[in-house]
Amino acid sequence: MADAAAPFVLRVAVDAPQHSGLSGPLDYASEQALTPGSLVRVPLGKRELLGVVWSGESSPAAGLALKPLTAVFDALPPLGDDWCRLLDFAAGYYQRSVGELASAVLPPQLRELSPEQLAARLRKLERKPAKGGAVEPVRPDLAPEQAQAVERIAARIAGDVAIKPVLLFGVTGSGKTEVYLRAAEAALAAGRQVLVLVPEINLTPQLEARFTERFAALLPEPLAIVSLHSALTPAQRLQNWLAAHLGRARLVLGTRLAVFASLPDLGLIVVDEEHDPSYKQQDGARYSARDLAVWRAHDLKVPVVLGSATPSLESWQHAESGRYERVTLASRIGGGALPKVKLFDMKALPPSAGVTTALTAPLLAELKRRLERGEQSLVFLNRRGYAPVLHCGECQWKSDCPHCSAWRVFHKRDRTLRCHHCGFTERVPQACPNCGNHDIAPIGRGTEKLEEQLTEALPGARVLRIDADSTRRKGELEAQLKAVHDGEVDILVGTQMVTKGHDFRRIRFVAAVNPDGALFSSDFRAPERLFALLMQAGGRAGRDASGESPSEMWVQTWHRDHGLYQALARHDYERFARDQLAERQSAGLPPFAHLALLRAEARTAEAAKAFLTAAAELLQDSHVLVYPPVPHAVARVADVERMQMLVEASQRGRLQAFLRDWVPALIALKREHKAVLRWAVDVDPLAI
Ligand code: ADP
Ligand code: ZN
Ligand code: ZN
Repeated sequence: MADAAAPFVLRVAVDAPQHSGLSGPLDYASEQALTPGSLVRVPLGKRELLGVVWSGESSPAAGLALKPLTAVFDALPPLGDDWCRLLDFAAGYYQRSVGELASAVLPPQLRELSPEQLAARLRKLERKPAKGGAVEPVRPDLAPEQAQAVERIAARIAGDVAIKPVLLFGVTGSGKTEVYLRAAEAALAAGRQVLVLVPEINLTPQLEARFTERFAALLPEPLAIVSLHSALTPAQRLQNWLAAHLGRARLVLGTRLAVFASLPDLGLIVVDEEHDPSYKQQDGARYSARDLAVWRAHDLKVPVVLGSATPSLESWQHAESGRYERVTLASRIGGGALPKVKLFDMKALPPSAGVTTALTAPLLAELKRRLERGEQSLVFLNRRGYAPVLHCGECQWKSDCPHCSAWRVFHKRDRTLRCHHCGFTERVPQACPNCGNHDIAPIGRGTEKLEEQLTEALPGARVLRIDADSTRRKGELEAQLKAVHDGEVDILVGTQMVTKGHDFRRIRFVAAVNPDGALFSSDFRAPERLFALLMQAGGRAGRDASGESPSEMWVQTWHRDHGLYQALARHDYERFARDQLAERQSAGLPPFAHLALLRAEARTAEAAKAFLTAAAELLQDSHVLVYPPVPHAVARVADVERMQMLVEASQRGRLQAFLRDWVPALIALKREHKAVLRWAVDVDPLAI
């Protein structure tokens, strides 16, 4: 037992490495009793780590000398019970240790600061008043549908009863954000904190501006409105996190990691664009912030609003079955019509009519017409770079990546071949590296080539490309978006980066030039993503109803009769959802089944497969189906082979029960499979 100077035994959640088998909270000796949720520093092996005092009975083995805590962050109020419950749930559900999860979601600087340093920060929290001044905001009169939505949410902020999540289903521009603002106002007025989740870091400044403008008078104190996302400096992130934890921040806007913010007075959660894939963390603890938001709200008996024009099929199915309450905003504010969708049939095009297969002559003519009228257009292509591959016509060499099962993409501007998976970059060769032929040519097209072709075909047009390449440096995206808003751009070329959320007022024409690929993907969620992306892209057009010409969206397709496009042409998400859900049901796919993936990585596919095969034999469960191991869609990345194995159950509880027994056995199994570099369980995986 611990010595007399340290009579207390405390359970502490600490980030122990998975292979150590130390998965639960560990016991330490302490001179004082500490409330669960207290932050401490503890020794582990040769290191000293941040830990969170955890609840639960301690039962140290008799006679085992416990190591004492190294330090206690006593200037900081403990994390709340509700926060610890959230972590417990998330760790259990996603099969990670609470310590690992806590360490991943707490601000990184907490791990580095001593209690004294942290105490100094708490003194130093910003005291200067928020900028903007206390101007009474202009609040528009709500449309009847909006008023109804706000009423349903606000009525529940006061009540301490379990309530259904609200699925706010409304097309882009239907006034969802205004509903969030009013619901937030009701929660703030009731003295509660509000958490608003957004999918993209890039969208936080825009939303922050809108919320700040609205609430500057109501919340004049410094740090009353803060954002939380990974692009903040470590010091900002700690400051904002502390402000939320101390209750000074009343409104927290953030990306998926903000779902774990410590919010002692949380009274409302909003998840904007709830269908967005970026709510799912793709490594480490692979949590879904959307799903955790729903859990957290339920646990606290506070309302949660999931907003989308194209809800995830999971959420839609919950609304259909009555588990969620659906609130629909059916029309655009101000009567702006949704763009007319034209399905442009590539098959009907005479061969001579095409300038290139992407930039067809009719499309160019339309862009030109819009240009002459001084209107902005958006051309959407979800592939960056110049061309996806470089090809030798003599020997059929292609620019594959030597380290991945993928092509290296041709980037013309800096004359490089770049692998988008491992980052391997080389100068474009002068001649074919295989046969010496000088005539090597790009195949296909990315945004860079589209930008070049548009510039050539429409002299004088101001063409701007926005994608991950054009916005690498800090401030570039902001500057580019500003140029679009200020009307300094005629034609915007971009990837999905430009389709999300941006309130472009001047765009009246959107063209999707090459979207067919996703129709035939092996990933069962590809159509759902494509539909959402195209609806969202279309949603960029005609947001300002005052324009003279009707706004329009063109989809250039070889499959115009496809059900997805037919539903898109009618802006009929409900029909699309009905078709997809019927398919999912007959195929036994989510949301009608529950999935987990076991992934394994090794230098050889055989080693990864051997681990998965052995894993499948560890545990039999008649309610759970374990499929044979298969290669990942991109099987090799950076010389590592990736295999995966699907686990399926018809009920979530069955799957969870299986995983609870399986994962500890996998930890033990891994010790026998030394060739396996990494393995992970992904619960509710997004891409399979
Ligand atoms: P969404 O979030 O559904 O895309 P927004 O809330 O951004 O829609 O609303 C679209 C536009 O309409 C915004 O410019 C917003 O200020 C405006 N708006 C929203 N609700 C109203 C209203 N009730 N009256 C007038 N304008 C409104
Ligand atoms: Zn060649
Ligand atoms: Zn590569």
